[in-house]
Amino acid sequence: MVEIRYDSEGDFINTESGKIIEVSITERIYLKNHSQICAQMGVRMPKKVFSGATLDLLFTGEIEKIDESFRACIYAFAKDFLDCNCESNPYCEHPEKKFMEYILKVRGEGKSPEQIVDRMGKEYMVYSYPADIVSFLDDSIRTLEVLEAIAETKENRKMREKVRTAKNLLV
Ligand SMILES: [Zn+2]
Repeated sequence: MVEIRYDSEGDFINTESGKIIEVSITERIYLKNHSQICAQMGVRMPKKVFSGATLDLLFTGEIEKIDESFRACIYAFAKDFLDCNCESNPYCEHPEKKFMEYILKVRGEGKSPEQIVDRMGKEYMVYSYPADIVSFLDDSIRTLEVLEAIAETKENRKMREKVRTAKNLLV
């Protein structure tokens, strides 16, 4: 039996015979100015943004020690990605999901992987490598293609159109 779930929040999950394909880029999002921030806060933290230790220090630590120009980006990041009402926020899955949606949204505006990296740097002071963005977008497109094919066999027109629109924005 094939079970497909398409989450309108931009979370592409293909469950086929128990196998779950999850596309993720958030493991490869890093803090810019990492060494300066560590020095200013007087702590060591991982470079990965979506790691518990980094989130802890940046969002519950003594953030006023950080240079003002960096702080604005950290607040913007918190406001845009960490503002859900879950009890476990910000350690729930939503910040990562929202960040993936953000990348797909910028891609949908016609930006190249390099431009996407530039944008996240300016807005949130984080970066990734363009090659990682490319594989994330490829995975997203492939997942959408699988969903599209299945929607066709199931003659699920509404889902097919939804998936097709999402895919066309990314190609
Ligand atoms: Zn949440």
